This record gives sequence, C-alpha cells and structure tokens, in this order.
Amino acid sequence: MPRRSRTSTALGIGATTVVALALAAPPALAGPAATPDPVPSLVAGQDTAAPQLVTGLAEPAVGSPADAARAHLAAHADRYHVDPGELAEVGSESTADGRRTVRFEQRHDGVPVFGAQYLVHLTGEGAGQRVESVGGKYFTGLTVPTTATVPAAALRDLALGSVQDPKARAAATAEDHGLVVLPDGAGRLAQRFTVHAADPATGAPAAREVFVDATVGVVALAYDTRAPLPTGGNAGSAADGSAAAGLEPATGTAPDAHGNSAKVNIARLPDGSYQLTDLTRPAAITTYDAGGRDEMDFGGGIPADLPPAHSPGPDFPASAGTSGATDASVNAGIVYDFYHDRFGRNGLDGKGGAITSVVNVTQDGAPYANAYWDGKKMVYGSGGPNYYPFSAALDIAGHEMTHGVISNTADLAGMGQAGAMNEGIADYFGNAIEVTARGMSMNDPAAALLGESKCRTGTPQACADRRMDDHRTTVDDYLGGTVDNGGQHLNATIFSGALWDVRRTLDPLTADRVVYRALTAYLTPLDDFVAGRNAALAAGRDLGLSHAQLRTVAAAFDAHGIKPGWESRIGMDSRTLARNLSYSMAPPAAGGGHWVAMAPAPDPVKGTGGTRPDTTALYTGSTTGRGAPVRLSPDDGRYHSWPATDGTTAVWKAIGTTAQNHSRELLAAPLSGAGPVRSLFLADGTEPGSPQVSGGDIAFTVNDFTTHRTSIRLSHDGAPAVELPLADGHHPDDLTLKDGYLAWTESWQDGQQYVTAPTVYSIAAGKVTAQYTAHAAPGAAASTASSARLAGGRLLWLDTPDGATARASIRSGALDGSGVTEVLAADSPNAPTRGGSLTASDQAVTYKVEGTKPAGGWTNAALPKLWQLPTGGGTPQRLSCDRGGQDQPAADQGTRVVWLDSTPGRTDLVVRDRAAGTC
Ligand SMILES: [Zn+2]
Repeated sequence: MPRRSRTSTALGIGATTVVALALAAPPALAGPAATPDPVPSLVAGQDTAAPQLVTGLAEPAVGSPADAARAHLAAHADRYHVDPGELAEVGSESTADGRRTVRFEQRHDGVPVFGAQYLVHLTGEGAGQRVESVGGKYFTGLTVPTTATVPAAALRDLALGSVQDPKARAAATAEDHGLVVLPDGAGRLAQRFTVHAADPATGAPAAREVFVDATVGVVALAYDTRAPLPTGGNAGSAADGSAAAGLEPATGTAPDAHGNSAKVNIARLPDGSYQLTDLTRPAAITTYDAGGRDEMDFGGGIPADLPPAHSPGPDFPASAGTSGATDASVNAGIVYDFYHDRFGRNGLDGKGGAITSVVNVTQDGAPYANAYWDGKKMVYGSGGPNYYPFSAALDIAGHEMTHGVISNTADLAGMGQAGAMNEGIADYFGNAIEVTARGMSMNDPAAALLGESKCRTGTPQACADRRMDDHRTTVDDYLGGTVDNGGQHLNATIFSGALWDVRRTLDPLTADRVVYRALTAYLTPLDDFVAGRNAALAAGRDLGLSHAQLRTVAAAFDAHGIKPGWESRIGMDSRTLARNLSYSMAPPAAGGGHWVAMAPAPDPVKGTGGTRPDTTALYTGSTTGRGAPVRLSPDDGRYHSWPATDGTTAVWKAIGTTAQNHSRELLAAPLSGAGPVRSLFLADGTEPGSPQVSGGDIAFTVNDFTTHRTSIRLSHDGAPAVELPLADGHHPDDLTLKDGYLAWTESWQDGQQYVTAPTVYSIAAGKVTAQYTAHAAPGAAASTASSARLAGGRLLWLDTPDGATARASIRSGALDGSGVTEVLAADSPNAPTRGGSLTASDQAVTYKVEGTKPAGGWTNAALPKLWQLPTGGGTPQRLSCDRGGQDQPAADQGTRVVWLDSTPGRTDLVVRDRAAGTC
C-alpha cells in the first residue's frame, strides 16, 4: 500500500541492476487503438515467434484441460512455435461459467524461464470442449547453455555482495532458488536468490530478488520484495490443517478500531477460551495481535510463542480494537466474500488456504504507519497518534489481500510496468471492495481515494495515499528508471486509473469481472501496460461484452496513454545508442561518426569464489546507431573512464581497484578493435588526466602529488610524450586537441586576482600562439573562462562573469591570437548555465541550460536541457525536445551530438543529427 516505498532503497543497493530486461511494448499487429479487433485476432510477441495473444478460436480440444492444451499447442506449432515438452503446468483456474485456464511455465532445457508463462483457455465440456484463446510469453529465441560455469559459492557471494551497506551485508542471508533463464535475447543463465538483510536506515527487514549470471558472474537483475524468510517460526498457518483441529466455530463481540462493538466470527479452543479465527468460510481467517512487537519479528513467519488474538470469553477485550485485530478479521471476511461472491474465488490462493493477518506491529519502537503483503500474510501497523490501525481501512486490507490473489495468479513481477500493474490492480480491487461495501457511487468525489479512511485527523483528500482519478498518462507522467523498483508505486495510477475509468464508465460489476479475468486468465509475470490492455480486452470478449462496451474499455486505456508504442510517443526525438549506460553520468566522447561511453561493469568472478568490486568499462559504437556496441576496455578489474576519441582511436584512464593495484594508467586503443590496447602513461605518485587524441597526436595532463604541479604532456605522431613548458604556478585544465593545435584553459594567481586564460599551442610551431586572458581589459568585469574547445578553426570557451549572474557567455578566439568574438552573450535568451559544459564541432556548439526546480518539486520536464547554435554565432535552438534530463553532450561531426538522456527513466546514450528547434 505505501505511497512511500521503503523497500525501493531498502538495501542501499546500487540502482543500476533493476529492470535490466529489455521487455518493451509489443509491436502492433493489434488493430487500431480505439477499435477492438475483429475476432479471431493475433497480437505478435516481442522478441519471440510465439504470439502474445490469439483470440476468437473455437477449436475442439480433447482430454483433461492440461492434455488438451498441450495437444492444441502441438497441433498448431506453425501458429504458436511452442514446444509442449518445454512447458510445465504451474497453476490452472476454472470459473463458475465453465471456463478453464491452463497456465504453463516455459522451461529451457528444463530450466525455468523467468516470467515466461503461456496460457491456454478452454470452454465447454467433454466432446464440446474448445480452445477459445491462447497467449502469454514464450520466448522462442533462447539458445543459452544451461550449465553454470561460475562456482555456486561465488554466485552466492555475488548475490550477497549486491547489498551495499557493509553492516547489512555482513548479516545478510541468501536463499537459493536454483537456476533460471532470464529471457533476454538468447537468454541469460542465472542463479536466483532472495537476499534477506536489514534496511541500513531503519533496521527493518528487507528482501531482494537477485539474479546472478551463472556464466559470467555478474548481477543481471535485482528488485526489492517483501518476501519472508524461508525459516523461523511457523509460516503463519496456525489455523490451517492440523493446527485448526480442535477449534469450534463460535460468535462473539469485539470492539473495532473506532470503538464500536462488532459481531465477530471466532473459534472456541478445547480449554473453553476463544481466539480470533473465523471458521465460517472454507478459508480459515486468523488474526494475530503482535502486541507492539517489531515487524522484523515476523519476517520469518509468526513467532512460535505468539498465539492468535485471544480472549477468555466470547466478548473480546478493548485491545482487539486498539490493536486493529477486530478490523483485520472483519475486513478479511469482507474481502473473501467479495472475491467469492463476485468471481467464485475460494480465498487468496483459490484453494481455501488459510488467510493470516498480523496487526499491531511497530518499527524501531514506534507505531508503524504502513501495511504490506509479505508473500504469505498481511502485516498491519498500529497507526499511531495520527492514524487508526491500518487494518481498519477496508481499501488497505483489500489492497494487501489482492496482492495475495495476484501472487497466486498472474504473479506480476514487482518491478517496472509489471510492478505498477501489480500495485494498480491491488489498488483497483482495494478501492472496489470499499466502494462496494459502503454503497458509494463511482461518481462520489471520495470514490477514487485510496487509504483515505486510515486517518484520525485531516480530510480524506489530504490523507489518501493515492487517487485513481489523477488522470495520469504514460506519455506525460511515466517515470521509469531505478527508483521505486522502476516506478511500481509511482506509475500505479496510470494503469489503475484506466481500470477505474472502466469501472466508472461501464458498470462496476462488469468492470470487476473484466479486471479479474484479465488478472487470472491472461496476465503473466513480465507483462507490460499494453499487455494489460490486451488482457482486459480479451477478458471482455470472453465475458461477452458488446462492441460498444469493448470500445469503452479501449477508450479508458487510450485516455491513459496505454496503447501499443506509447514509449516512443513519450516524445523522445532522439535515437537511443545504448541503454542503462551509467549511474554516474560520466561524460561520453564522440568524433568521426563514433561514440565511446562508460558503463557499469559488474564483477566477473576471478579465482575461487573471491569477488572484486563492480567497476566500469568503456563501450564504443557508431553514432548512426548501426551495429551493436562493443566493449573497448580490457576486462581487468579496473575502472575504465574519461574517454576521448577522434573517431579512429580512443584514449582513456584506467584505475586499479585493489590494495596492490591502485595504479593510474592512460590507455589507447583503435575503435575498430583491430589493434592492441597500449599504455600511454603509467603513473607513479602522479595522477594523469584529461587525455585527448587527434590523428597521431595525444595529449594529457599529469598532476604530481608531491609538488602539486600539473604539467601537459604531448605525444606527436607516435613519438614518446614530452612535457610542454608552463610558467611556474600556472595550471592547465580542459585540454583540447585538434588538427595540429592543442589548447587548454590556463589559470594562475596574479596578486589578488585569479586569472583564467584560454590558451592555444601550435604543435608545428612548437609554441603558444594565442592566450586570451578572461578579463584582460582594464575595468572589464571580472570573469572566469572554462570548457575550452577547438572547433571550426577557432577556440571556443565559456566565459562566466563573476557575481550573481546565472548565465555564461560563449566566446571564440582566433588560433593566432588576433582577436575574440562573442558567439553568444550571457544576457541573451537561453545562454549557458554558469560553470556548465560546452562541446563543439566545426559547425555547431552545444551546451547545457540547467532547469529550474518547480515549486512543487522536481518533475521530469524541469530537468536540464541542451541547446545548440552555429559555431560562428546565431540563435540557440533546443537540441532535443526530450522531456527528461539531458546532460554531458559530446559533439560528433556536423550538428550531430550524443548525450546522456534520462527521459525514459534510466540513463541512455542518445543522439540527434541536428537541433530540434523550438519545443
Ligand atoms: Zn501494494
């Protein structure tokens, strides 16, 4: 339920590994967005030959549902491309109207494929049995070998190593779930773990699903969960099976959280006392009062010494109300009845399994104002001075219990769009159950609120966690990336808002049946929003909705931007060259039609189970986007960073990571990969930096730790690097090398003044040919020069006036020292942010303008943007209208620029060939 997801950062794990699977929206073989397809129809799968959805079938099917389903898939191999021998039945559902869904999990050489489920839907009995639709995710391109090559102990260490906080890591445990195949391209063989650790910030239990590549030994995927520990205490099933023996159904009274007396279904124990177990339904509903114990005590199940909420007589004491126990029990019954009466469902698992709630937990000695489903039970905080016990809010109970239904059906993964649908569907039913129980109209202004009734004080509007009529859409509001497990709560109302609109514009009962059937019969763990839309439409067809009703359903998804290809409609006007590149926003390099950029390089295991820290690697590719990126730097356990390139050669810095090897080395390699990586400079008590390359020339700086002096080294035409003379106390920055000229920003202390001077050196002449002191003119306002770039036969730089001015000007100077011109004045519209960066080709100069934080907090649209103008001067234009953050531009040839863009919610390297103009 929580709006503030504690679990998203719970383990302090580097955010780079979340949502590593590239599972985007399926391409449209689907019909026009607003019109449901005529039947039969087929929606193609993404990255697979197996269709995502085939509807409108009426093909005879003989035998048990599972046999009939397998036979159907085998008989139509040309349609499905599914190997029935690689399917394992993982759970099937039947409905009151005689429909059966057979849910298969895909295996690859016998190894489960993460999130890959294929479903066959049957109707009719005996000889009249028919397959009416088929769909899900089955990946036909998997070829990865299924033998792990990394030792098991090393895989476990890598999983534990994903906990960044050292203290949390030391106490962490890794529960091994065996091998899985991640359905990424040809597949990735991974060992799946649930890592349990304490949240370093709060000490609360936290869990993380971690998938370690079993062939190369890197964390391939990870996301946070609330999974309980595998052992310790009982699993919270005291009312289940033998533990329920000896209990007799009874009725009594108990005060609820609001102080009213409620009738409760309870159980009489052999000794004549009573406990809060409701035995009136096939699924026993038991409630435990934690009595203020920490929620951490329940991570492994119910502690053995804690009995269910208890009373000597049938009238429960006041503590049943203040703890929230009465409400948890009563609300669990309401939720059970809703699912049973509306859909014929027997409990959370559909099989009448025990339903367990724990109330009155605390966190760090304070009342816990939250609630969650931990995979097996509901855990509710006692609220506190501002909140009632969370179990007292029916929509919260409905939300958490719906997570239980989801984990027993579609099992939507807790990350990305699947995670947002998991939260969104939990919101939908939590809300629907409360609105139904209260007899509210869907047009009641309070009908859309979630969690609004938990507050002792404040208005429902102010108290609500979320509202389902917030009109958020994919294109305008989707926030991806690494926070909140890829936005599982942040994006929930985009999806639940569409469902809620269906409920409001159709009729509640029909809508509930559509959503329930979509969840139980069509959705699979890795589905995205568009698959969710298709699932709802397919469910609607199954349920006999009219074309007008189906159009209403489609229109609701349209209104929230959930239609095929929405990601491309986010307004990205750039081409993506590489995804999920960098968490550090390290600057990429570009030139001669090629880019070089740094990406995280998690640790490949070396030796026997020992691991090293994650490092960084350099990749290169074409700025036209042709071909796949290739790794440029050696896999040697060092950080590789700070690249520069002229389009033929890359130069960069490598930093050792071990105690024995803290070396600093400058390296060079041809982008073609057709030559060796060679060492340019191996530091000894010095720090090399700012490497540059142009043709046969290479330049860099060397900072001597002892003398604090920084010098410039230049290697001309492959000759050994020589030191260029600089005056005592003069310091070079921003090296730039092009076509026989080297330039830098030189700075020194002159009396009270700190002087900065863009400086040009002719390699052929062997001397400085120009030096433009930033405020040489007497009486001129003091300013600072930075970010010097050689381009278009001149030197360009940023000139930032001292004082409070927000902007810098762009200046250019002749290489022979004959004069300076102003390319863009600091007071002109859209001038660069002071201290920003500048990049330039012969044709265009590109720079960054920082966004202004809106009063209500940062939004995606308010992040920094890039602007471009001709190198000789002109009016700046927006380089790209991408609405997210744009940073670290690197000019290639002409007006083409690559940069790091966070519009899709992760850091991608993207490119545009020319400025977009006005946005
Ligand atoms: Zn939730």
